[in-house]
Amino acid sequence: MENSPIKAPVMTLTSGPVAIYPRVQEALSRPVPYHYDPYFLNFYEQVCVKAGRALRSDRPALILQVEPAAAIEAAAASLISPDDVVLNLASGVYGKGFGYWAARYCKRLTEVEVAYNEAIDAGQVAEALRANPDVTIVSAVHHDTPSGTLNPIDEIGAVVKAHGALFLVDAVSSFAGMDVHPIDAATDIFITGPGKCLGGSPALSVLDVTEAAWTHMESNENAPRASILSLLDWKNAWRKEEGFPFTPSVSEVHGLDAAFDQYLQEGPETVWRRHDLTARACRAGIKAMGLELWPARESIAAPSTTAVTIPGNLTTEQIISAARQTFGVMLSAGLKETYDKLIRIGHMGPVAEPVYAVTAIAVLGAAVRQHGIKADVGAGIEAALAEIPNGA
Ligand SMILES: *Cc1c(COP(=O)(O)O)cnc(C)c1O
Repeated sequence: MENSPIKAPVMTLTSGPVAIYPRVQEALSRPVPYHYDPYFLNFYEQVCVKAGRALRSDRPALILQVEPAAAIEAAAASLISPDDVVLNLASGVYGKGFGYWAARYCKRLTEVEVAYNEAIDAGQVAEALRANPDVTIVSAVHHDTPSGTLNPIDEIGAVVKAHGALFLVDAVSSFAGMDVHPIDAATDIFITGPGKCLGGSPALSVLDVTEAAWTHMESNENAPRASILSLLDWKNAWRKEEGFPFTPSVSEVHGLDAAFDQYLQEGPETVWRRHDLTARACRAGIKAMGLELWPARESIAAPSTTAVTIPGNLTTEQIISAARQTFGVMLSAGLKETYDKLIRIGHMGPVAEPVYAVTAIAVLGAAVRQHGIKADVGAGIEAALAEIPNGA
């Protein structure tokens, strides 16, 4: 017997992968060139330069042919040597996860860990560095997506630089959704990707790497070479005169280029503003409906994800299925430690528009009401509209 077909979603309001921009869709469908065609060699160099400009860096970006989770593992493998002492900052599932990779390569791992609805304070980092003066690398996640919370990454970066350690930051789900850049945060490895706020397809990674980090990797005898985990293999691949260590995903590079064009041509400040506005409207609506936000304070809530505490004794499955089956709207669950504790509404790329906040409130409100939880959807929508200029 055939399985019954599952209807495609009407709307994807997840924390990534997200709906992609039409121009990215168009770029992905272009003919596939040979990677050593002069057209592609030249194009690849231009995309790396454009990505570096979008990152507001003074060098071309490093593109890796893997999704960001693998790029983060590759950064750990390449950067962390058996002589390194790593201070890992964990305010959520991704932060904690980096510690498992770091522990595989370092001499010693020490961590600052806070509750997963909280943020790490720069003062806590300074204190941990005073207690562990031998720390050579600090790692952090800017927006720990399964919690919807932000760490004050620029302040933490200043503390790390004062100590003299290298700073590795996962900014996968915040870059392009708000004002966060490698130089401002004093990072040595800054990792992002197209599948979140850039509204692209989730196959590649984009990194900014300082000379200090390259020097450290080059002196790390254990840094992988001829490997999917190698950053060094790709160091010079951006130059059109250089070869590729292996075949890049040429279509995905077309898509990435279009995602950066969208971002730069619309204007970063404009893009951040609509992420911020959508999240603000969404949070106002959630509260007015009588539901609770997961982050301990709104000041640490991310503009690209609104995490909502699951009310009563409901399960993730009940809420996600109700939203998907009744409205065709896909929401995100929590992950690992936050699973069954929260539901996430994504505001990333093309859906970082306030109309989607209004929709999300109606959908989430109806989904919890299906399971007997009270939610004043009308009040929620009014409160969201009140945040939107000319909305009320
Ligand atoms: C999405 C995301 C990643 C990358 O995960 P993939 O599985 O590669 O998409 C890494 N870190 C954070 C914080 C993320 O939100």
